[in-house]
Amino acid sequence: MQKERLLNGFVTLKAIFFDMDGVIYDSMGNHSVAWSKAFAHLGWDFPLEQVYLNEGRTGSSTIHLLYKEKLGRLASDEEIGRIYEKKSELFDGMAKPKPLPGISGLMEKAKRAGLEIWVVTGSGQAQLLEELCADFLGLIEKGKIISGFDVKHGKPHPEPYLTALARSGFQADQVVVIENAPLGIEAAKAAGIYTIAINTGILSDDILWKSGADAVVKGVGDVEKIIFTV
Ligand code: MG
Repeated sequence: MQKERLLNGFVTLKAIFFDMDGVIYDSMGNHSVAWSKAFAHLGWDFPLEQVYLNEGRTGSSTIHLLYKEKLGRLASDEEIGRIYEKKSELFDGMAKPKPLPGISGLMEKAKRAGLEIWVVTGSGQAQLLEELCADFLGLIEKGKIISGFDVKHGKPHPEPYLTALARSGFQADQVVVIENAPLGIEAAKAAGIYTIAINTGILSDDILWKSGADAVVKGVGDVEKIIFTV
């Protein structure tokens, strides 16, 4: 909290852009196991820390990364389809991830304050995206979700956040991003948006600071303090 920069211009705040995995849902544990098992089918090791460091990429980008590392080439469309299907199947078979403690309270508070709620995720997990609106009824709308299906380039490319700015019609300084992953923070900062990192994973705070976060906090309560009491 000490390194927090002052939130000048928050009087103009119009919206909060939420990342999904590791921010709205406590889902990164499931994702990391699913990715590791999907690659284990090929005899490849994808350690937990690597999963967290690469969180935010689209599925195909993650698969290309491993193919480059292991075989020195990109994956074919067929290989991507097969592995992502396996990963999704494993993920869908697990216990449904729970919302992050306090996250719906933060959304309700944001809504009462007149702020729009947008979701900006690299995820292409159709099941989870469908459930998002049902789980957060009255808070999250289908038309305010930017997913892996809406962009060509996933995080760390700024396209997901630039797409959210374009669709919402807001300027970068009218928005705050809540992220948990290094590549997500990079993407949001490259789009010029103030970014609060909640460290809900296994990486050190330092990695999140180095990715360019404007604040690094432990939980949703700390986010509320930054947004609503400055
Ligand atoms: Mg995330």
